[in-house]
Amino acid sequence: MQKKWLTVSDIPAQGREFYFEDEQDWAGLKDNNLSNQEKCDNLKVMVEVLPQKDGIYFKGNIKGQTIIPCSRCLESSNIDIYHNFDLFEDFEQCHQKGSETGLLKFENGQCYIDLQKLVKEQAILALPDKPLCSEICKGLCPRCGEDLNKDLCACSQNAGDPRMAVFQNVKIEK
Ligand SMILES: [Zn+2]
Ligand SMILES: [Zn+2]
Repeated sequence: MQKKWLTVSDIPAQGREFYFEDEQDWAGLKDNNLSNQEKCDNLKVMVEVLPQKDGIYFKGNIKGQTIIPCSRCLESSNIDIYHNFDLFEDFEQCHQKGSETGLLKFENGQCYIDLQKLVKEQAILALPDKPLCSEICKGLCPRCGEDLNKDLCACSQNAGDPRMAVFQNVKIEK
């Protein structure tokens, strides 16, 4: 999958499958939001491109693992990804000359598909909003920022149960 733009007329009527699975495939995708991922090449993408009368139907999935920071403790974590997608792009958009907002463009009497853009968009959608290193991640202490998975920080030891904080200033008459 080296070529950026696919020519629609090269795709057989019954459709064709494309795979993004090695480092080279991902190299071209690392220029934006995905660049902070150390290992997006562990993700495998399958896209089926099915030409229709009035547009192109795309169907596929992204699966594998990627390394992104945990949303609670910020540690780099291996996150499992499994994302199915299907979408339809209208030829109408393709005929609006100069428009490159969609996945299709029309040039020199040919319609082209930007498959890399599709994969890029879907890879971003595939990432969880709140990735967790583990379901039981304790996160960072809201006061000192200590990673509570590794150590109990001084504030949590002193404060004890935060629900008891309200009693901290209560003086008990002796
Ligand atoms: Zn975590
Ligand atoms: Zn703390």
